[in-house]
Amino acid sequence: MSDTTGGGKPPLPIGPLPRVSYPITVQYCGNCTMPIEYCEYYPEYEKCKQWLEKNLPTEFEKVMKLGKYGSPYNNFIEVRPSFL
Ligand SMILES: [Zn+2]
Repeated sequence: MSDTTGGGKPPLPIGPLPRVSYPITVQYCGNCTMPIEYCEYYPEYEKCKQWLEKNLPTEFEKVMKLGKYGSPYNNFIEVRPSFL
């Protein structure tokens, strides 16, 4: 009759993760009203980018830089040869 289920393990980590940076201020998109880091999941991401470029040009640059690494869709389209 020994307890082998190990019930003391938490299902989710509690508190901030060391590898994730938590910004103090969050910039919200004027187009989709989401935090700009979620804009890429919005169907009208192109409009979001236009809004960002006009209203938050510095954030727009960040998103564009991150997008090269963070968006599998963009990579897929860019990598795909146009002559096929
Ligand atoms: Zn947006």
